[in-house]
Amino acid sequence: SLSDRLSETFKNLRGKGRLSEADIDATVREIRRALLDADVAVAVVREFTSRVKERALGSEVSQALNPGQQVVKIVNDELVRILGGNTRRLNLAKNPPTVIMLAGLQGAGKTTLAGKMAKWLKGQGHSPVLVACDLQRPNAVKQLQVNGERAQVPVFAPHPGVSSEFEASTGDPVAVAAEGIEYAKQKLHDIVIVDTAGRLGVDAELMQQAADIRAAIQPDEVLFVIDAMIGQDAVNTALAFNEGVDFTGVVLSKLDGDTRGGAALSVAHVTGKPIMFASTGEGIGDFEQFHPDRMANRILDMGDVLSLIEQVEATWDKGEAARMQKKFEDQEDFNLEDFLAQMQQIRKMGSMKKMLMMMPGAAQMRQQLEQFDEKEIDRVEAIVRSMTKHERVAPKIINGSRRARIAKGAGVSVSAVNALLERFAQAQKMMRKMAQGQGGAIPGMGGH
Ligand code: GDP
Ligand code: MG
Repeated sequence: SLSDRLSETFKNLRGKGRLSEADIDATVREIRRALLDADVAVAVVREFTSRVKERALGSEVSQALNPGQQVVKIVNDELVRILGGNTRRLNLAKNPPTVIMLAGLQGAGKTTLAGKMAKWLKGQGHSPVLVACDLQRPNAVKQLQVNGERAQVPVFAPHPGVSSEFEASTGDPVAVAAEGIEYAKQKLHDIVIVDTAGRLGVDAELMQQAADIRAAIQPDEVLFVIDAMIGQDAVNTALAFNEGVDFTGVVLSKLDGDTRGGAALSVAHVTGKPIMFASTGEGIGDFEQFHPDRMANRILDMGDVLSLIEQVEATWDKGEAARMQKKFEDQEDFNLEDFLAQMQQIRKMGSMKKMLMMMPGAAQMRQQLEQFDEKEIDRVEAIVRSMTKHERVAPKIINGSRRARIAKGAGVSVSAVNALLERFAQAQKMMRKMAQGQGGAIPGMGGH
């Protein structure tokens, strides 16, 4: 998986100075592969990765994340941004009915979507009606009626129409669309979903018909429905419909199972239009609002790494990190107060072992981690807490009688205090080395 491959690139990286171009290249190369695997259009991948690289090169080095994680975070933020940032909700008309027009190629999933959306809206207390403007194929009207029945909403269509009072024109989709809206007004439906015809490929006549319907009914939303599985063709189809009909939002259909959904990124990137819904199966309930952050996750396929990054960022105490950094720079000694502060940082990050296990590169440390005992942190903390402040700042003064007092206070043996002080001395040595820029592991995490 991408996470495994990235762990290779993360292995030897440490957060010092600016992100190097080599660090960024290594990570971006993996990201590029992941995007291509997810079927994002080649041109989009190229443009996207070069923008990520530019941003990464100019960014400050994070105190909390290593360079590889930082690049992943930039990639994720960019993905979410391109996919529309926040979830885009339906734009409802101030004066009902709200008119929603569906457009897209034949087989994209428009008619199925009309039923799903009607049911979903009905569940939210709306009273939708479907209007059949695909008069191209003999079966299209019937198919919409079947979907309307499933959703238990009326369908306005020529023959057989909804009622004898409202006779729809035959053969003219523009007229039917306008009549459908009249019908909705009179019957007090607050939402009208207009299903239209599609062709197998982009076609001038079809585009004209969609544009004519749009002009006649002035919809509040024009939703472009696209099959998430069409992969590399997504870009051209989306561009043609954006030009021809000028849609307001996108619905990704057939986003079932393990479709990685690269089409989402391609379409959003080239059109700049928000993706609003996803259709995820053939059932009437297989429909959901589109969430850019979840989709970014799905495209990158790096859920674990991303949730780790979030946790680290959320819990990292910037003030504390800056204080430690200053200590490094001033080559000041790391004392037991610092040691205690670090323990608390670690504790804040939740279950350490679980966290570290999720980290790319954890495989190499797995054995050590398995020996790591969280109770040990409690013990260490108890010992440090039963020292006086003076003892913590200047551990050298901790002689035999002080050790006995500390052990008693913490409820441990004197040898446990001795072991801790020994470990602390090692950590202190390591911190000195780190301060001199030689790198090393997190102090105090030896896992003895
Ligand atoms: P239209 O030509 O755009 O109206 O497309 P349809 O709604 O007729 O759908 C074309 C085919 O795709 C039908 O067989 C649908 O059952 C199927 N379909 C539509 N949406 C989905 C979906 O989200 N997942 C799956 N697996 N199939 C879908
Ligand atoms: Mg259809």
